[in-house]
Amino acid sequence: MRVSVLGAGPAGSTAAYYLARQGVEVELLDRASFPRDKPCAGGLFNPLLYEREFPHLRTLSGATLYRVRFSGGNAAFGWESDQPLVKTVLREEFDHFLLNQAVAEGAHFVQNGNPIGTVLIDARGVQPPKNYRAAGICLVSDLKTSRDFDTVHIDYCFGGIMGYAWAFPKRGYVNVGLGAYLPQRNIRGIYDLYIDTLRGRGIISSCAGICRAKIIPFSPAKRIFTDDTLVVGDAAGFVRPATGEGIFFAMLSGRIAAQTIIEQHAFSWYEQRCRESFGRFLKPTRFRWSRSLLRRTLETAVHIGSRDKDFARLLVENFFRVQDHRLGGQFIRRLFR
Ligand SMILES: Cc1cc2nc3c(=O)[nH]c(=O)nc-3n(C[C@H](O)[C@H](O)[C@H](O)COP(=O)(O)OP(=O)(O)OC[C@H]3O[C@@H](n4cnc5c(N)ncnc54)[C@H](O)[C@@H]3O)c2cc1C
Repeated sequence: MRVSVLGAGPAGSTAAYYLARQGVEVELLDRASFPRDKPCAGGLFNPLLYEREFPHLRTLSGATLYRVRFSGGNAAFGWESDQPLVKTVLREEFDHFLLNQAVAEGAHFVQNGNPIGTVLIDARGVQPPKNYRAAGICLVSDLKTSRDFDTVHIDYCFGGIMGYAWAFPKRGYVNVGLGAYLPQRNIRGIYDLYIDTLRGRGIISSCAGICRAKIIPFSPAKRIFTDDTLVVGDAAGFVRPATGEGIFFAMLSGRIAAQTIIEQHAFSWYEQRCRESFGRFLKPTRFRWSRSLLRRTLETAVHIGSRDKDFARLLVENFFRVQDHRLGGQFIRRLFR
């Protein structure tokens, strides 16, 4: 059997890696030449889980971060975790690393080729959404910094957006971005305001530089397989709406797709395994239909976290998926305490 993987991002390279390891003939196609950049914060949330699930990442370098500052409305709190919350990487390096790992196992990389395999894995990344209300927009840039800082900044509803703004420290860079549900007015103006705010906090000194905008899917695709194709990663809409996180689900779906082919399961097995493994993280954020309610909920959560250490820990661990807490009940209990 010959498998063609279309797209060599984290989803495609991971699928190719696991297929090639089992001796399957696999060609990995991408329209870009590598290393190539990808607009992304480059946060590997819960890095210990990544290493457990994908042992070939153990040699990957990056900045491992334990500290975070959350803000929302007039409230803010800081938290230092005893286990790593996130490892930040430059996507240019990370995606190239994953591609090289797949090639080292025997996958054949072709730039701009046509798929000729009998089975296709579609890993082409975000596709234009059918419903823009089930998608988000992100603005992002990597800014060079000479100052070392080790705290992730998460600013909910900054400038009134239905989402959050962030600053992720990396080695020699800080990634600054914001992500919000669509539609969202004046996002560039709000982004510039955020840059000013971070300058005020002493985190960056440079101006905004080149910032790029990207659509992000916030709901899984209806069909993620056909008779001869499995759809993985962003192409399948596997992004966590609460945070915009997608790399982990891209890699996991790539590995499950490879397993489906190697073990010769029916393709419906792939869909079922994805749903069981990570479907719970992809549920749309409640209250997204009401901006003011969502904003009030997020701001209240940060407000409670600023006074209640236990709740602050739950919020942080839930955001970075360090633990899978059911936050709703805890929130309501504290709201009426
Ligand atoms: C601003 C922003 C910030 C983000 N921050 C984070 C974060 O901190 N942590 C996190 O986990 N996730 C984050 N994400 C989400 C994450 O970037 C994606 O979920 C992840 O890149 C999905 O990987 P993928 O392999 O499915 O797609 P991609 O990484 O997009 O790779 C798709 C590949 O397919 C290729 N391709 C496309 N079309 C074709 C074609 N027709 N033929 C051949 N090749 C093709 C492309 O060149 C590309 O190399 C962020 C997203 C955005 C937009």
